[in-house]
Amino acid sequence: MIKKSLRKDFEKVVSKERCWTNQEDLAAYSYDAYPEQPVLPDIVVQPTDYEQVGKIIELCSKSKTPLTVRGAGTNLSGGTVPLSGGCVMLTTALNKIIEINKEDLYVITQVGVVTQKLADAVAKEGLMYPPDPASLKVSTIGGNVAENSGGLRALKYGVTDRYLMGVKFFDTEGNYIKGGGKPVKLVTGFNLPGLMLSSEGMLGVMTELILKLVPPPQAKKTMLVYYDDIIKASQTVSEIISSKILPATLEILDNFTIKTVEKFHKLGLPTDADAILLIEVDGHPAAIEDEYQKIQKICKSLNGEIHIAKSDEERDKLWQGRRDALSSLAMLKPTLILEDATVPRSKVPQMMKAIQDISKKYDLIIGTFGHAGDGNLHPTILTDKRDKDEMKRVEAAIDEIFEKTLELEGTLSGEHGVGIAKSKYLESEVGKGTIAFMKKVKKGLDPKNILNPGKVI
Ligand SMILES: Cc1cc2nc3c(=O)[nH]c(=O)nc-3n(C[C@H](O)[C@H](O)[C@H](O)COP(=O)(O)OP(=O)(O)OC[C@H]3O[C@@H](n4cnc5c(N)ncnc54)[C@H](O)[C@@H]3O)c2cc1C
Repeated sequence: MIKKSLRKDFEKVVSKERCWTNQEDLAAYSYDAYPEQPVLPDIVVQPTDYEQVGKIIELCSKSKTPLTVRGAGTNLSGGTVPLSGGCVMLTTALNKIIEINKEDLYVITQVGVVTQKLADAVAKEGLMYPPDPASLKVSTIGGNVAENSGGLRALKYGVTDRYLMGVKFFDTEGNYIKGGGKPVKLVTGFNLPGLMLSSEGMLGVMTELILKLVPPPQAKKTMLVYYDDIIKASQTVSEIISSKILPATLEILDNFTIKTVEKFHKLGLPTDADAILLIEVDGHPAAIEDEYQKIQKICKSLNGEIHIAKSDEERDKLWQGRRDALSSLAMLKPTLILEDATVPRSKVPQMMKAIQDISKKYDLIIGTFGHAGDGNLHPTILTDKRDKDEMKRVEAAIDEIFEKTLELEGTLSGEHGVGIAKSKYLESEVGKGTIAFMKKVKKGLDPKNILNPGKVI
């Protein structure tokens, strides 16, 4: 429970209308997209300018009130659950695109802008902001930086880190810091934009970003490839990559996921296929034709049946099907646990096989989809938290998925961050020394441990 005097101080900063303390409002900010026990904050505040952000941080720092920054709350690792209560700061009113620069190819934006809105605005100017997490219709661009989010186009265009040129943020004492800038080459001092990437709300509070833009491709070709064997589909992924072809997108959906998407969205996906690959090549028309011919050959050699999207409408439908995978699976059972296992791309077939074996061994429903071209798979366990016996099997299965991922020299999280979800596994991937170093960084930057305490390390 927050002291009355402190609540009044917050109200003075952001106005009474942008401060919430009643139980129903607090409940809305007690959870995010990771199925963790909700924890109520004591107060939720929504600043509308940077000065207010600085003052909120100062208030939290002086009163040692934990501060959880929240964009859209779509993260899948519990990053915005306010574990120690305190203050949740919403960034959603910091929602202005400040400048789209067509000469120097960058956009300056506030952190609360929704990713899709930013992508649409730059597309109107004939440019492209490539990172496209499947959540882009709701996620904020600040959340994308704090999680270093990937997307469907990451295989060719990379993830958020490739586009972050500059950042402005507050430290925990309320100092306003500027890192990076508009030049494409800039090495003056430490890489502060790099520090903010994957910082999961623990090292500073970002307000403004400079993001790199690129010219959009001249043409695209989108294919849907059906397989009667998911291992063959996974082998196709490895073969395409080792043939030195770089599609913009190379996504996989297993049979269970295909059927579930089809059940809810009726997109005409092949429900009898054991797996499908969604492949898109883009670039100069002559180059994409050449890449298409090579990909076609590889798919056919592994018994893939190719269908080409004949119109933009058909193409959009296919991508919508992929983007709807997670939300469709979520409709089947009360609890959904989405994993983020990522392995070197040549090891996708081994990881796929391991997930199938683990699903059988623990008698669990696991739907798998993901960015196969990045080696980034999302085995998704459908369960019910109230079923104690099943949850024991779920935990054992997750442990085994992680063990296999590390055995294959992969990583526990390709894009969803650590938050609460992966913190117990982090040491097994990075080792004690690395955790100790991360703790020193955190302590140096946030000595009172007010920013998102209890997460990651
Ligand atoms: C259906 C669905 C599909 C998804 N698909 C993808 C995908 O394809 N790829 C992918 O990478 N992720 C995906 N995600 C995960 C999620 O959408 C991303 O992590 C996204 O970047 C989170 O953005 P957000 O605005 O919701 O951030 P939030 O969830 O609000 O916050 C995420 C983290 O960032 C911190 N943070 C937010 N804003 C700031 C700020 N201004 N300063 C400092 N810290 C801040 C928070 O404290 C928290 O730790 C998906 C999620 C869902 C629900």
